[in-house]
Amino acid sequence: MYYNNDTVIFLDGKWLKASEGKTNLYTQTLHYGSGVFEGIRAYKTSYGTQIFKAKEHYERLKYSAKAMHIELDYSVDELTHLTYQLLEKNKLQNAYIRPLVYLGANMTLQPTKEVHLMLCAWEWGRYLGDTQLEVVTSSFQRPNPKSCIVDAKVTGHYTNSILATTEAKNKGYDEALLLDMNGYVAEGPGANFFYEKGNKLFTCPLGNILAGITRQTIFELCEAHHIALEETLFTPSDVYEADGAFFTGTAAEVAPIKSLDKQTFKLNWQDTIGFKLAKAYQDKVQKKDNYHTELI
Ligand code: PMP
Repeated sequence: MYYNNDTVIFLDGKWLKASEGKTNLYTQTLHYGSGVFEGIRAYKTSYGTQIFKAKEHYERLKYSAKAMHIELDYSVDELTHLTYQLLEKNKLQNAYIRPLVYLGANMTLQPTKEVHLMLCAWEWGRYLGDTQLEVVTSSFQRPNPKSCIVDAKVTGHYTNSILATTEAKNKGYDEALLLDMNGYVAEGPGANFFYEKGNKLFTCPLGNILAGITRQTIFELCEAHHIALEETLFTPSDVYEADGAFFTGTAAEVAPIKSLDKQTFKLNWQDTIGFKLAKAYQDKVQKKDNYHTELI
């Protein structure tokens, strides 16, 4: 699904077949989760294939690496250039791009000098699909920001996301919503969360979440289209009263939510601000937004 015999990846300065890539089994990343990564999308636009917010994604990759004491010797420009080459070599236009920074053999818990960079890409539909999601409040909390650097995109952090997703699916839901250590809503396992009430959007502030690039894009779209938005702490009970809600993320884009803990939101998705933002987001990533100045 992720690669076939023709797929080319970038690994430590070389282009090679994905099927021929190898890794050391003693890498610190495999044993202890100390790697960093990104999730980026490229879109086919009338200006050719465009990587959406490459600079922001690669700045976050460098931030995540630094947070984990990983020396990543590539500039944002180099990483962006390599990614365009990767897309070209694989003849990809609409694609999901996965840069992974992983470490050499090290069975101690100290920083590792040997650093590897892998870039790969594949065609990937919207992560949470196109259906309206039934979401459940997770029994797992987001990691306490004093136990890790929660806004760094670290491989090991995703064990929390896997536990939450698996629990939600096992209970018959589509996705989980995780609270922070104080019981306020934080985010989904791989996406940020927004709800709307009375023509206004609400999302939690930074502090316990990944600072999503899609979240930031939603902020920009709200400003451009004069949509009221507040960053504030709230609980699942506040969300039960909502008119609508959605997740945002590079892989998920803008994903509609139907209910939280079986409490169905008041408006049909098509009548929500989220629906309009989902459309505006597509226009923006596909660079069609010049034609849509009037959103509402
Ligand atoms: N939160 C988590 C935990 C994530 O994994 C992601 C996906 N990277 C997001 C939020 C959304 O971030 P972005 O919009 O930058 O993809």
